[in-house]
Formats: sequence, C-alpha cells, structure tokens
Amino acid sequence: MKIAILSRNKNLYSTKRLVDAAQKRGHEVRVIDHLRCYMNITSQKPMMHYKGESLDGFDAVIPRIGASVTFYGTAVLRQFEMMGVYPLNESVGISRSRDKLRSMQLLSRKGVGLPITGFARNPDDIDDLIQEVGGTPLVIKLLEGTQGIGVVLAETKKAAESVIQAFMGLSVNIMVQEFIQEANGADIRCFVIDGKVVAAMKRQGPDGEFRSNLHRGGSAELIKITSEERAVAISAAKVMGLNVCGVDMLRSSRGPLVMEVNSSPGLEGIEKASEKDIADMIVAVIEKKVIENLSNPNKTKTRGKG
Ligand code: ADP
Ligand code: MG
Repeated sequence: MKIAILSRNKNLYSTKRLVDAAQKRGHEVRVIDHLRCYMNITSQKPMMHYKGESLDGFDAVIPRIGASVTFYGTAVLRQFEMMGVYPLNESVGISRSRDKLRSMQLLSRKGVGLPITGFARNPDDIDDLIQEVGGTPLVIKLLEGTQGIGVVLAETKKAAESVIQAFMGLSVNIMVQEFIQEANGADIRCFVIDGKVVAAMKRQGPDGEFRSNLHRGGSAELIKITSEERAVAISAAKVMGLNVCGVDMLRSSRGPLVMEVNSSPGLEGIEKASEKDIADMIVAVIEKKVIENLSNPNKTKTRGKG
C-alpha cells in the first residue's frame, strides 16, 4: 500500500514510529506537511497539490494534525477523503474531538459518564452556572485547549467568578466543570484501536498539581483497567467515530468519567509504559480497513460529507 502521514515534523516520535511500522510491514510511506498541501476543489475532480507536485495514488492517510491547525488540517484530510483515500480517523471525528463541549454533548447523548459540565455566554449567568456544576472547587476549561494549558482550578467562588468573567470579557469560549477531587491529580488514558482497548496507562501529575498531562510534568505507569472502564472507553471511541484514539477518564466515586477523547494520541508515553508495538497495531488495522473498504466503499457515513 501507499500510505501518507499528515504530520508537520517527520522527527516526532509518533511520526517516526508510524513510518517504521509501515515500512516494516512492506508499505510505501510518505510524511506530508499538511500546511504545505493546497487544494483544487473543482466539481467531481478533487486534487491535492504539495510543494508544486500533484499528490495521488495513496491508499490510506494517517492524520497527525496538531491542535493549533485543526481547521486547515481537517480541510486537507477531507480533500483526501474526497479523493477516495482511506483515512485512519475521519475529518469529522477529529473536528468533534477538538471541541471539548461538542464532544461532551455527543458523549452525554449516548449516556457515557461525564463530569457535570456547564456552558454559558452571558456574565449575568455566572452565579447560576457555578451552582449548576455543584459549586466550588470547580474546573474552568478553554473549549480548544490542549496539553493542560487552559485548564484552571478555581477553589473559591470569588476565584471562579473572576476567572470566568475574565475569559468572557476576552470572548474566549470556556466550559465549567465539576472538580473530581478523588481522582487525586491522576487520570487514565485508554488507547483504543478499532474498538478495542490495546493498552492503558495512569498518568499522575507532580505533587500539588491537579493536571496529569505528561506535558505538565506528569508521569505514566501501566495499569489494569476495570471492565467498566474498558466498556466506557470503547463506547466513547464509537460515539466520536474514531478508529484510533486516546480516551481520557477520571476515576471518580461514581465510576469512570470521560474528560476528553484525543484523536491524535501520542505513541511515546503509551508504548514506553506498555512495551507494546502500538504503531504496528495501527498499521495492521489500516491494512484490514482498506481491504474492507475496497469491498464496501460506501460503508462510512460521514467521510467527505463534512
Ligand atoms: P487538555 O486537553 O488540556 O489535556 P483536559 O480536559 O484533559 O485538558 O484536562 C487536563 C488535566 O486536568 C486532566 O488530564 C486531568 O488530570 C485534570 N482535570 C481536567 N478536568 C478535571 C476535572 N473535572 N476534575 C479533576 N481533574 C481534572
Ligand atoms: Mg487532556
């Protein structure tokens, strides 16, 4: 097969591992910087150009689109979809996952456990909003934050009010969430591939930090998840429509609560913690899906439809 990896940097751990895994399995693979792709969207004849050449002949595309370039990156991916290239994750699933509020709404509709979450726009509603999520302490989040940046813990009502007012004053979209204290600064990342949890790790923030992101100095260890956690991760991936994703959840006194679903989960932390060849599993799934797709090309509902 001929596989494209949409990635801005071929030296990133995850990109390198996917290239290696694809080559080991006998595929031709090319890393493409999606910000250098440009498109011709003429009726019936979608085309992709890259640094002066025309890109075609790819069987599959692996999107590794950074959160800061979601709009352009998903447009490029959608163009590949229009051209009939099989996407490991569809552009629609990626767009859903990048908006924390949209993800929460979709997950809530399907009954996935979530921290109580509120969303408002008018400063006059702040008091009610705080009450809705059970008062303080509470967590305030930018809808499109990542790596723990833009996630704030407000311990008192005064602090919550002033932070919410500040964000609203800047016209930044935020959501307000019940703080899950009993998670103790840890969360669980379940790595899902094709409807199965293939590895799971617990991430623990450093002392005094409630955010467990590895980018914020958190550490990862392998854990055994419960069957309930496994079921929640699988159903969250399904709701989001993602073949490969990292489902992040908090262990709360009322069971697992999903915080977010990451559509470009990093491979380094999970491969090191689990000692599993996750990149190889991803390429193996692409092989299976491309074959399935050839025999049933109209199966996916959303591909290329926005
Ligand atoms: P990001 O996309 O920036 O990673 P998250 O929503 O995943 O944002 O939050 C970052 C971290 O903050 C989580 O991994 C978790 O450790 C902590 N956290 C987030 N929301 C809550 C919450 N409601 N209660 C307790 N801890 C939380
Ligand atoms: Mg996170």
